[in-house]
Amino acid sequence: GFRRAGRFDGIELSEIVQISERAAQLRAAGADIVALSTGEPDFPTPNHVIETAHQAALAGQTRYPATAGTPALREAIATEAGVEPANVIVSTGAKQVLAGAFLATLDPGDEVITTAPFWTSYADMVRLAGGVPVVLNCPGEQGFKITSAQLEAAITPSTRWLLLNTPSNPTGAIYSQAELHALGAVLERHPHVWVISDEIYQHLAYVPFTPFVQAVPALADRTLIVNGVSKAYSMTGWRIGWGIGPAPLIKAMVAVQGQITSGACSIAQAAALAALTGPQDLLAERRAEMRSRRDLVVAGLNAAGLECALPDGAFYVFPKTPARMPVDHEFCHYLLDKAGVALVPGRAFGMSGHLRLSFAYARQSLEEGLARIARAVAVL
Ligand code: PLP
Repeated sequence: GFRRAGRFDGIELSEIVQISERAAQLRAAGADIVALSTGEPDFPTPNHVIETAHQAALAGQTRYPATAGTPALREAIATEAGVEPANVIVSTGAKQVLAGAFLATLDPGDEVITTAPFWTSYADMVRLAGGVPVVLNCPGEQGFKITSAQLEAAITPSTRWLLLNTPSNPTGAIYSQAELHALGAVLERHPHVWVISDEIYQHLAYVPFTPFVQAVPALADRTLIVNGVSKAYSMTGWRIGWGIGPAPLIKAMVAVQGQITSGACSIAQAAALAALTGPQDLLAERRAEMRSRRDLVVAGLNAAGLECALPDGAFYVFPKTPARMPVDHEFCHYLLDKAGVALVPGRAFGMSGHLRLSFAYARQSLEEGLARIARAVAVL
């Protein structure tokens, strides 16, 4: 019969996907469901981007792309970052950049330090590559961020990476320049530890955002920056992300990618290039809209009795569960079954007792969702 590979032990479909699929099923069966569970902007991909993709396909950009990414897109990313194209890999979403980095660098037992709450895929990606996630608990009292003392204490001879996410999914936390400096000072004492800074929400920051390499340039020769077009330009389905890092690392990641995908979709790369080099006004417009949704949601949740901090970036809030139903997955089931609202339990992000709500939805859905949550909490 069927037998799973040992390295897949305990690895399941992400709980975010499970909940979103359950919500879709309930909806298909006629239930009135407000899903606030997916991290995907409701805005359309900009028209000029779609038009460029159409033209690229008609012009014959339909063949295998260069494995590392099309020269034009790599060049544009490199120029913007002030590096060489040899420092850039384009992959099938930021997700594949991360997976490629771990596959290219982790030996069995190698450790990757990350914070809880973390984006659900981090720990499983590390495990799939044979590594060991070392998850440090970073509660709301410390802004959901890793401290330099925690980092120092967690480093062992087996540590390969510190994996940071700023702004963070699911908390919206942004590391200040001073906080990045402090982490950098620890890492300077441990030259065997490299850094991944996942900055995919960079353009959704409501306080000043400092890129890791700008705060700690001395570590640039062991830092991989992860970014992409999914969140900023509403291009989740196009699957284009990139990594910027030292050339030998990029070269190893390109070799891995060559054996797995042969590179990212050529047409989507043409589209991503148009997004990066075309008009940028939409970034500020969409950020302003997200910011006002954030304020609406934080006020609504606190008024409903769910303690919720104001996130500095991204499009998520990470409130606490209500005291009368403190177990997060129970509360999420209750909300979905009784109130028709889909949220994700904090345990999916390594921190129980919380919920994640995505506010990347139309205001009308947010208002309806908040009203339902308030009514459901009131009758607990
Ligand atoms: N990194 C973080 C923190 C994310 O939240 C996500 C998507 O949810 C990704 C990476 C993946 O982005 P992409 O769509 O480019 O694969």
